[in-house]
Amino acid sequence: MTKYIVVVGGVISGVGKGITTSSLGKILKEYGYKTTLIKIDPYINFDAGTLRPTEHGEVWVTDDGGEIDQDLGNYERFMNQDMPKKNNMTTGQIYKAVIDRERQGGYLGETVQFIPHIPQEIVRRIKSAADGYDIALIEIGGTVGDYENVPFLFATKMLEQELGAKSVAYVLVTYLPIPHNVGEMKTKPTQQAIKLLREEGIFPDFVVCRAEQPVDEIRKKKIAASSFVKVEHIVAAPDVSSIYSVPLNLEQDCVGQKLLHCLDLKPKQEPDWKLWKNLVHKIIEPANTISIAIVGKYLASGAYMVPDSYVSIDQALTHAGAARDVGVKITWLDAQRFEKDPQALTELSKFDGVIVPGGFGSTGVEGKMAAINYVRTHNIPYLGLCYGMQLACVEYARSMCGLRAAHTTEVDKNTPYPIIDILTAQKQVMEEHRYGGTMRLGAYPAVLKSGSKVLALYQETGRLAEDAPKVERYAREYGSTKLTTNGDIISAKPDKIVLERHRHRYEVNPAYIATLEEKGLVFSGNYERPDGTKLMEFIELQDHPFFVATQAHPEFKSRLGNPSPLFYGFVQACKESKKK
Ligand code: GLN
Repeated sequence: MTKYIVVVGGVISGVGKGITTSSLGKILKEYGYKTTLIKIDPYINFDAGTLRPTEHGEVWVTDDGGEIDQDLGNYERFMNQDMPKKNNMTTGQIYKAVIDRERQGGYLGETVQFIPHIPQEIVRRIKSAADGYDIALIEIGGTVGDYENVPFLFATKMLEQELGAKSVAYVLVTYLPIPHNVGEMKTKPTQQAIKLLREEGIFPDFVVCRAEQPVDEIRKKKIAASSFVKVEHIVAAPDVSSIYSVPLNLEQDCVGQKLLHCLDLKPKQEPDWKLWKNLVHKIIEPANTISIAIVGKYLASGAYMVPDSYVSIDQALTHAGAARDVGVKITWLDAQRFEKDPQALTELSKFDGVIVPGGFGSTGVEGKMAAINYVRTHNIPYLGLCYGMQLACVEYARSMCGLRAAHTTEVDKNTPYPIIDILTAQKQVMEEHRYGGTMRLGAYPAVLKSGSKVLALYQETGRLAEDAPKVERYAREYGSTKLTTNGDIISAKPDKIVLERHRHRYEVNPAYIATLEEKGLVFSGNYERPDGTKLMEFIELQDHPFFVATQAHPEFKSRLGNPSPLFYGFVQACKESKKK
């Protein structure tokens, strides 16, 4: 029977509930338990697909095409485990499911009410996501005391009533401020958060104290005395320089064993933190450093201009850096600057490598292409992600194939050379849906080209071997047409298939592939649609230290200890280019 750990937040949001949940998951996995993590987002949006990135951070994409808050990203990065979209639920999904069921006659004769029907649906979903796991951690977004949290807390009480107190543990992640004028850590807001939780009938088993400093014994005792939480269950979680040191810090307080004890479980194995510690050490004190630029778009957020949020790219660089023992210093450059001042392009030679990340719309597109042209012609390592691959193809068509007016139809609908375009099947999807759900989303298998750099990188990192059985499993589990109807790809070359996640609408136009290839652009991987259309997934250049781009978002499948192959290759190329 699955045991549950509910993680809630107190005092303020953004204190690191997600990192705490990920760390606890990692610890329990180390003790030999099959663990999964579930995120509850109490907002009404059905999913994160239509949320503003500057407000909610980048949208995370799952293998099965879910568009979700970043927390699932942290779960995967810590756990080295794919999390399907059912591991995330929003209030909107819960209500929609209940109303749909009512319309279909699922509650005939009953008055459908907030209690019990809403928490019942929540419990049903929690159990479905936890099915097959020893332990499931449930992170409830927001802060205790929020109106929106109530149904979820109620649901976890229902779960506890059904399974017994030894099957559900509660962890409160709280914040202890140290006001500068007082110069002392204050526990009162935490005491009040515990009181608010008790109003919902919940007594926390653990209190994780986020603060600038480790919470001391005096304050631990103070919290314990007012809340009936055992003093040894009050855990210090001070600020750290790398999020990946959090599991190690929590383990110094033996949190794993205490949690297991609380759930009537014993360690199944002795944790082995050697590799993890080594990687964390390389993140904090790397032997070398490289400096890279991300040329992107800046967005207005109130009175500020901030870079579009790219947490996953930052993390993927950290993982690749840890594997290569190099620290990666990132500088964000606004692409529009290169449009106003082409001279500024020379600044790019100061960097060991350049990334053009994913993006939408026309802002900064010419600046991005100017940057791509510069790094291509100056032998600076380049990694293009999604839009970064599409624009690299347009730039190549313009500069190398003589198609000066080439463009993507996302920006210029009337271009005579639509190098990047919406393909017919995607047009249908867009016409049917209009908003949301109109993108090519989730994991797609790509067959890699023999002899390509991309294939070599997927081989070297062990990804090729790792992905092969997944291709088949996903086809079975999700029954998705994109995998099942493509039997010939799966069976023909299983040794060269990789899975990467997608979130885009436009594709390389098949009509221009031969032209681009003739002038030396290598398409090093493609996905074949059931109708036979080949979608280009990877490009590379032969006579360049590193010029690789992909239609996918490989940053979504980068984990500490299991870096993304393209980032791994890019970081190494930057390191070598720096040496020269
Ligand atoms: N705007 C492009 C498309 O929709 C690229 C999307 C992206 O970079 N994620 O195809």
